[in-house]
Amino acid sequence: MAANESGLHNRTLRQVSGLLRDGQVSSVELTEAMLARIEAVDPAIRAFITVTPDLALDHARRADEMIAHWRNGTIDTLHPLAGVPLAIKDVILVEGVPATCGSRILENFRPPFSATVIEKLLAAGVVILGKTNTDEFAMGSSTENSAFFTTRNPWDTTRVPGGSSGGSAAAVAARMAFGALGSDTGGSIRQPASLCGVVGIKPSYGRVSRYGLVAFASSLDQIGPLARTVGDAALILGTIAGHDPKDSTAMRLAMPDCYHRFEYATDLKGLRVGVPKEYFIEGMQSEVETAVRDAVKVMESLGAEAREVSLPHTEYALPVYYLIAPAEASANLARYDGVRYGLRVGGEGLGVRDEGLWDEYRNTRGVGFGAEVKRRIMIGTYALSSGYYDAYYLRAQKVRTLIKGDFDAAFKEVDVIACPVTPTTAFKIGEKADNPLEMYLSDVFTLPANLAGICGISLPCGFDTAGLPIGLQLMGPAFGEERILKVAAAYEAVTGWHTRPPGV
Ligand code: GLN
Repeated sequence: MAANESGLHNRTLRQVSGLLRDGQVSSVELTEAMLARIEAVDPAIRAFITVTPDLALDHARRADEMIAHWRNGTIDTLHPLAGVPLAIKDVILVEGVPATCGSRILENFRPPFSATVIEKLLAAGVVILGKTNTDEFAMGSSTENSAFFTTRNPWDTTRVPGGSSGGSAAAVAARMAFGALGSDTGGSIRQPASLCGVVGIKPSYGRVSRYGLVAFASSLDQIGPLARTVGDAALILGTIAGHDPKDSTAMRLAMPDCYHRFEYATDLKGLRVGVPKEYFIEGMQSEVETAVRDAVKVMESLGAEAREVSLPHTEYALPVYYLIAPAEASANLARYDGVRYGLRVGGEGLGVRDEGLWDEYRNTRGVGFGAEVKRRIMIGTYALSSGYYDAYYLRAQKVRTLIKGDFDAAFKEVDVIACPVTPTTAFKIGEKADNPLEMYLSDVFTLPANLAGICGISLPCGFDTAGLPIGLQLMGPAFGEERILKVAAAYEAVTGWHTRPPGV
């Protein structure tokens, strides 16, 4: 436990990166400290599905060699992430490490290759601590849909951490990792970041390769970072972004080096901030509205100019998302047939009799998928079936274009949009578990960005009277990451919300 007492886990990513570079700590020591921290804290939080101590120490030894080579001049540059321990959401493949996606159907699946984002992190010298809990196939907003267990919010363990990247958000908030990867299809990075008081970025669609991300809804999914500061999240994003020959949707655009650029820039003169009137709805927690409006005032005090904007089709985002995402999911999840991956249940002799094969599909999928996943497969299959396709799926695609048009129009008037991330702070475990529609409402303010393909960030902007964190969302146009990161970094620099630790 000596390692846990070192207090290393309380440092930010940028701080430990400096310690590693200066030789004040080795990556092996740092990794041992974090593994001890996980052992001490995770039984109460349950952020990790799989912890990978051997792999982590392997990575750490490799990183220490990299640092030694850099110090004696054999290599010229050292990536700032070299030797830094991170956590990875369990929908992102790491070669040889179980990737369950929070599902029974993939319980024993060990991928034979790593996602492109993992290859990039490993090339930088990152240490992978393990795989974090998620709602099954990233479908949910609380991690309660995980087939294994629910992750607890480090600020109050009777509450959810949000989802679906709740394991990653809780791991970062509870100081079990200096940063993490999540995935965001409709809010799954930003909403848990908000509920756990950390920073989360949903990159523009096409900013980051999806190769090796287990697909939920391919036209909406993006991998992105979670960390304790804007700069730390920007650094991870800069490392994983960029073109990938294995994913033709990953754009050939360099990500600006936001990490080194924004540290001390707090001048927002000339910046136009739009506050969408449709994002302050009846039934939302008044403390959330107050905190967000106060955050806008802080930006004004830094020289920004705030004005109300309208995104008139906002009310359709939820129904549109819940047609398009399940439609794509129903197609993507067809591959779990008991033959190619993971679980296989029953059916006699494969393909010997047709009935045997059908039984095997039915049994495997019946046992392997949880209730929410089955609900989505049914909705999606229905929306895509002949006779209903035009009325539901095609109609939803048309309205999606109108939602994108709202943002195009708004970004002619303003540079960034500031709004809440989610209507309430962390809710109690079990509170919404039996009410899918209420659960879906957690993402009303995050889904539109995915439908429009634009970027968004969630960062801490206050606490409610129960001491639970509140998040601020900043949205920018497609490939406008530099802009929202600059504003977020300025806001963070003059407020102290991100420095307060949870009680664990
Ligand atoms: N909560 C939303 C859903 O259940 C979004 C999930 C996500 O972004 N992966 O679909």
